[in-house]
Amino acid sequence: MKIGVLALQGDVREHVQMLQALQVGSVLVTLPEHLGGIDGLIIPGGESTTIGLLMARYGLDKAVISRHKQGMGIFGTCAGAILLAKDILGSSQPRLGIMDISVARNDYGRQADSFEAAIKDHRLELPGKPLKAAFIRAPVIKKISDGCKVVAKLGNSPVLVRQHRLLTSTFHPELVGETRVHKYFLGMLR
Ligand code: GLN
Repeated sequence: MKIGVLALQGDVREHVQMLQALQVGSVLVTLPEHLGGIDGLIIPGGESTTIGLLMARYGLDKAVISRHKQGMGIFGTCAGAILLAKDILGSSQPRLGIMDISVARNDYGRQADSFEAAIKDHRLELPGKPLKAAFIRAPVIKKISDGCKVVAKLGNSPVLVRQHRLLTSTFHPELVGETRVHKYFLGMLR
């Protein structure tokens, strides 16, 4: 199995290291031709407006959507979650718009309001062990459609959601050494 990490902007290296730790090969994706031969794509956190603009500039938006239609899975974290969402409240920024969720950007507040959490309400392996999660100017998922499955929740908000071969987290597992979310994504692709 080979996983691409979209490497236009954001915390690319941490995802590559996470994949290495799970003994999965990775490819840095900066151009459409890098999407050939990968089973899944990770869209890292960063600035969703910047990543969205760069994706459009390099033709990666259309290429990613077309590879996804052929079966490529996608895991978007934080800014990646925003880029997957069909609806971004109050924004017309460029996006992939392929997941039936509605998100509000920066809805926990500013940079200074970023926080780490131990998420107890999750359906990943080791149910008794809370998920470690870093929320950095994170979005909040306000609405999901019936086809989406909530895999983890913080308070009343879903923070990890799956729809078929799409996975989205509003938090960063890769910054706090939490491997179970990446493992779950790899499991979705098998
Ligand atoms: N606030 C960023 C955005 O709206 C996302 C932050 C992140 O990816 N950690 O794009």
